[in-house]
Amino acid sequence: MSNFSFRLVANCSQTQARAGVFSTPHGIVETPRFMPVGTLANVKTVTPAQLEDTGAQMILSNTYHLHLQPGEKIVAGGGGLHKFMAWNGPMLTDSGGFQVFSLSEMRKITEEGVVFRSPHDGQMIKLTPEKSIEIQNILGADVIMAFDECPPYPATYQEVTAATDRTYRWLERCIMSHQRLDQALFPIVQGGVYLDLRTRAATDLAKLDMPGYAIGGVSVGEPPELMAQIVRTTAPLLPRNKPRYLMGVGTYREMVIAIAAGVDLFDCVIPTRWARHGTAMVQGERWNLKNAKFREDFAPIDETCHCYTCSNFSRAYVSHLVRSQEILAYTLLSIHNITELIRFTQAIRESILQNRFLTDFGHWMNDPEKDLE
Ligand SMILES: [Zn+2]
Repeated sequence: MSNFSFRLVANCSQTQARAGVFSTPHGIVETPRFMPVGTLANVKTVTPAQLEDTGAQMILSNTYHLHLQPGEKIVAGGGGLHKFMAWNGPMLTDSGGFQVFSLSEMRKITEEGVVFRSPHDGQMIKLTPEKSIEIQNILGADVIMAFDECPPYPATYQEVTAATDRTYRWLERCIMSHQRLDQALFPIVQGGVYLDLRTRAATDLAKLDMPGYAIGGVSVGEPPELMAQIVRTTAPLLPRNKPRYLMGVGTYREMVIAIAAGVDLFDCVIPTRWARHGTAMVQGERWNLKNAKFREDFAPIDETCHCYTCSNFSRAYVSHLVRSQEILAYTLLSIHNITELIRFTQAIRESILQNRFLTDFGHWMNDPEKDLE
């Protein structure tokens, strides 16, 4: 897999935190790093040029959603995902596993795969490990994900054992059907909140020489302390010299806890979702721009932020746009929020390089008040 490499450039002397460089066919990703989510081949309300200015390196898109609309053949007709959406940087597609299990109704799970009803036209659609990989091969992202069974929370030990075992069998089928050397296939560690199942899954996956590894099935409703335990148990079992990606996690505190356990990559929809709710993320706080106190506040959202929004506009202006439900409000807040989370992970990376991670960011781990979720 010469198209991909992961080089560790610094290790924290007090935790498992590390700084690395993940090389892909479309460029590098300096880790730890937050990755913005572009579910339907766009990061909502933000153009690729604006996205590049946020400091985004790798972004996500979603197999389940793109298969339903517009369909992978149209994406291929448009020259593949990078060209179709005009993002020439590194990209990752989720396998659709999580979405099939969390979004679709009327689903039936068998050893072969999952059958579910399309929310668009009511047709029954079958997604199997082979089909998910075929779609992802056609879409053409740099990193593609194994098709997994993500059990809900709560679920019994027996249910999670069955899902974890099936995820491993499905991974073997994903590996067999994967066709492209310019795409890296990441397996996903499942195991719910059961640490022995997580340990077994991570140990089994670590034996396979994969180009990177993901921890999935977290942030599905379990208490934050359980998530922290899962990540602390799982991440150190994965190969040291491969990138580790914690799926669906991107709040400040959760990222610090996971980075301390040796995680490198994160994604989450919160910066864009909160933007659409008129919310700015400011150094660990959440500000509702509809609040009356911002109406005549002519300072930038964050004076320390160099994003396009903070360089050009005031809180009063963004507040006015939010109150008027102008679409530009969501663009400006998305630009700021994405920049903010990437800036946060960049600052952590810098602290790891200087061996100051625990000094500069340790307080996030001990203060549940800082948890935004
Ligand atoms: Zn800003």
